[in-house]
Formats: sequence, C-alpha cells, structure tokens
Amino acid sequence: MILSTLLLLSAPVQEPVPSDIRVADIKTHIAFLASEELEGREAGKRGGHLAASYVENQFRRYGLKPITEDGSYRIPFKLGADTAYNVVGLLPGTDPNMQDVYFAIGGHHDHAGLGSKLSGAMGFPYEIHNGADDNASGTSGVLELAEYFTAHPLKHPILFMTFSGEERGLKGSEALVNSGVLPNDQIMAMINLDMIGRLDDDALFIGGLGTAEELHDILDPMFENSKLNLELDDRGEAPSDNTNFFHAGIPALFLFTNIHEDYHMPSDDADRINYEGEVKVLNMARDIVVLLDQQSSLTFVNLGGMGIPADFMSRMSDHYRRISARKELKGKLGLRVSVDEALGLVVNTVTGGSAAEAAGLEVGDQVTSIGGSETPDMNMLRRSLAAGLKGDEIEIHVTRGATKMVLTAVLK
Ligand SMILES: [Zn+2]
Repeated sequence: MILSTLLLLSAPVQEPVPSDIRVADIKTHIAFLASEELEGREAGKRGGHLAASYVENQFRRYGLKPITEDGSYRIPFKLGADTAYNVVGLLPGTDPNMQDVYFAIGGHHDHAGLGSKLSGAMGFPYEIHNGADDNASGTSGVLELAEYFTAHPLKHPILFMTFSGEERGLKGSEALVNSGVLPNDQIMAMINLDMIGRLDDDALFIGGLGTAEELHDILDPMFENSKLNLELDDRGEAPSDNTNFFHAGIPALFLFTNIHEDYHMPSDDADRINYEGEVKVLNMARDIVVLLDQQSSLTFVNLGGMGIPADFMSRMSDHYRRISARKELKGKLGLRVSVDEALGLVVNTVTGGSAAEAAGLEVGDQVTSIGGSETPDMNMLRRSLAAGLKGDEIEIHVTRGATKMVLTAVLK
C-alpha cells in the first residue's frame, strides 16, 4: 500500500512502536466491552454506562481533551426515561492554521443488552447479547486510532467519539449532532466504524464516498493499490451513525465488514472476531484520514440513499430465516416460582407434563441454582434459563425441607 510505505519512510527507523494499531490492544478492549459483566451494553442501562466510562477512561489515558465546559468526556442525552452517554475527546492538530477544521472518528458503543427488543435483540429475552462485532469492534477501533494519532498527530484536530443509543435508531449520534456541542460546520469529514471485526476474504465495505466532491480523486489511487477486497459505495446514508453526520451536511464514510450469522445474536462473541482483519480495517481507516489531512476543506455533496453492501439484504433474509428456526427450538421448563424473603425463590406451580415435573421438582422446593448459575432472584432465574433449547439438559439445585437435592431437567 502506497501510503504505508510513505509513513514508514518518514518514520525514524528505531522509533518504539507502542502506538501501532495492535491485535493485543483490540483484544483487550473487546474482551472487556463484550464481557458478561457489561450485560450487552444496553443504552441507558448499567452496562451501557460501564462502556461509556471505559471509553472515557481510555480517552483520559491517551491525553485527549474534553470538549465540554464541565470537563467531562461523557455527554448525556435523554433516551425515554433513561439517561445515556455519548463520549467525545479531542486531539489537537499540529498546524496552527488548521485548528478549526476537524476530523471526526466515531462508532457506537451500545448494543442489545439482555435481549432488549427495543435495541434490536434477535436472541431470546434475558440472553446476554455481547455485541463483540456490533460494536465493540468499532469502539475498540476508535480507541486504537485515538492512541495511534496521539503518537502521530495530524495537521487537523480530531474528535474521537463513541455513541450510545445506536441500536435504538441512531439516537445517540442524533442527539450529539443536534446538541450544539460539536462544531458541525467545521467538521471536514466523519469516519464511522460499525461492525469491523468480521473481515472475511479481506472484503471491506466503504460507503459515503460520494458525500464530498474530492473523495474519489484523493482516495481512489490508494484503494486501487489496497490488498483488501474493497466494495466502494457513494451513497451517504446507512443503518448506522454516519447517517446523522451526513444529514448535518458533513461528508461521512462508513466502514463495515458486513452482516453475519451472529448479527444481533447472543453468539456475537469476542472469540469470533477476526483480530488480524480488524487491524487491516483500522490501517485502512488511518490511511484514509492521513490522506485527507492534506486537504484544508472538502466540498459536501448531498448524495443520499442507503450505502450498504450489494448482498446486505440477502444476508439479512438468510439471517431472519435462521432466527425464526431458532425460535421454534426454544425450550421450556414449566415452572412458576414466588419470591420468599427468607428462602428466595420457591416453586409455587409445576406444570403437568412439563420438564420440571419429569425432573421431580415439587411445589415448595427452594431453587438455589440453575445450569450452574445461582438464582437469588427472578432476574437471575430468567437469565439462567434464557438460552435453553428443547432437549437441553439443565441441572437444578433445590432445597426441600432440610435436604439439598440436584435434579436434572430436559427442556421441552
Ligand atoms: Zn447493531
């Protein structure tokens, strides 16, 4: 790739490279963001807040500057009855004449929580949707690029940002773009990273290339020399946050490694990420921004339309077919419990002919754990059963009178 060669030539040979875009860093970020602890990072909920705080801490660690008067990187917005947080940090540029013309590099940090239908979960209620690709991958990408450019600053300042409420209909980026906090008129280009963790056959989609007059002239030579299998698209809209920047008159690009079988499913996990592939995508994002940095402005073009891969809709319909097949397989235990202050969860109904009855559960049994998870409350009980399919064997620990028992249920 031409540009990488130039960067290498201009860099001192013995320079230490802690600032390179690295698999190990991406793994660390995604391991945390897509962990069970974050409960699927639902916007406005505990897990979503933890994700925003994590990004804020990294921004602070890199030395980015907050852009709010109160010095916080987190910028709240209302999402129904909840408060959710976008996160923004500023890296100043090196050219004194370019300090009021910014780049924005962003991606959403929220996902579908514990099977939140509002946030587009496609698994069962109470299943954790970890969202490793969607969009811990893009969030880790924003962090890696922030760290990289902190060590290799550009002429232009860069606003790094992660959004909440994307899964609720692009609500976080919409709130941010309309907040008056961002210098919308002075953002030369926005780069959106959403689902960049599943590079397959080196196929990367880049949308929004028609949203500024100059983009093709500047970027096409690099694209032609790229080893990636690029699908380029001019249109400015997408089912992602670049849309709101585009609608605000800002040239905006969308980098995306496409829909897959784990899209919005509980199986979108960290161990399925193509980490080497994500490094390739981030190197491309970096190279785009480095090339655009030579410009002092770009000319916005209001070219709408859904900029998505050509096979996006067919991949989605295959996916919906898989999801409805899985719904048919949902397993039931056939048990109702009530909450007793002293005893915890106590069985009050065992459905006739159910898996619970066959396992030997009885009214009055105190349920202490299911499938290896302790069940101190209804929420944990629901979560312990959420992923169960017909035929799954589940171990249930109960206390009956003074006796502790282990029963095995086969879900129906
Ligand atoms: Zn999503």
